[in-house]
Amino acid sequence: MYDCLLKGATVIDPSQGIDGVFDLAINEGKIARIAADIPAKDASVIYPLVGKIVTPGLIDAHCHPSLNFSEHAVLSDEAGVNAGVLLVNDAGSAGAANFQTLRHMYYSRVKTEMSFFLNFASAGLIRPPEIRSLHDIDIKLLKSVVEKNRGVVKGIKLRALEPLMSIATDVLALALDTAAELNLPLMVHIGDFRERTTNDPLDAFSRSVVKRLRQGDIISHYMTWRPGGMVLPDGQIFPELREAKARGVILDSSHGKNNFSFKVAEVLLANGIEPDIITTDFSSMNVHCVQSLLVTMSKFIALGMAMSEVVAATTNRAAQALQMDEQWGSLKVGRSADISVLEKVAGDFAFFDGVAGNSRKGTCLLEPRMVMRNGEVLPCRSYYHISNVG
Ligand SMILES: [Zn+2]
Repeated sequence: MYDCLLKGATVIDPSQGIDGVFDLAINEGKIARIAADIPAKDASVIYPLVGKIVTPGLIDAHCHPSLNFSEHAVLSDEAGVNAGVLLVNDAGSAGAANFQTLRHMYYSRVKTEMSFFLNFASAGLIRPPEIRSLHDIDIKLLKSVVEKNRGVVKGIKLRALEPLMSIATDVLALALDTAAELNLPLMVHIGDFRERTTNDPLDAFSRSVVKRLRQGDIISHYMTWRPGGMVLPDGQIFPELREAKARGVILDSSHGKNNFSFKVAEVLLANGIEPDIITTDFSSMNVHCVQSLLVTMSKFIALGMAMSEVVAATTNRAAQALQMDEQWGSLKVGRSADISVLEKVAGDFAFFDGVAGNSRKGTCLLEPRMVMRNGEVLPCRSYYHISNVG
């Protein structure tokens, strides 16, 4: 007898190549069986989910779910379980000097599972731009904080903003060496916030940065239209981006407010340079245009990406990027029953990309209907303000 049975949903689990109507049985908080027809009499509780979509617990591998720690952030559960997402990765809000504060404010006090990328700057994002000189970095402290928090620190975050260019020492080399020594991925933010100039020196800087990233490192905001981006306004794509992808560098769409453009996204998708991971970069500054991971996924569906690819970019590939794929991103039998239940709502929706100022129509909006954490059902809700243009 199973504890419960999710019946009749379309199960999409790219980690196992599953995409079809199946029943999914859960026992003692773990996934017990996936099969075409599991009899209702074999389970104590039945959830009839015909017309819904069941995926591995969704992962937002780049967001800022640390409200009250940093000025610009959101609550973990608002980015997480309340919005249908089970694992949120805080991408560099804290550095070595203040990580303990962030960890104790949040970790194990929220329903959403959390992981963290430690900012290469000691103070994290408390005072941006966070690296103005080498005094803002303390490698010894960073290494000791990583070693003490291995279970939750899954990477190092560095923002390749303009001030890095004027520091004589090669900060990127320091970050690459440190990440390699700690066996963690380095996530690098590209794209600055000012207007682009002709032959912008930041472009050359970003290209030199992207060139040196290794397999498993992450380029965040690779769809930016800002200086330091990999795509010029005329559609030219810098070759370093393709070369990085070919080496196994992970491409992170990281929406945010300032560094995501539908026009750039269309150029990249038309050239087969799809995001490996789809993330929100959710913070209090971009709630209006990002709204949630599911809205962000809906935008990529509107741009023509297949549903199975969009789910892979927020489940198994996101788990791999965080080196957490042993526990996350799959509905394999025996895994914890961490599950997202979604619905594709049909309509004529208008999506916006933020400061870039573009909008696109879409006919499908993914909405969260239920999440399950270790087999326990948690409520979630949709609270979007997507205009229906139909
Ligand atoms: Zn970010």
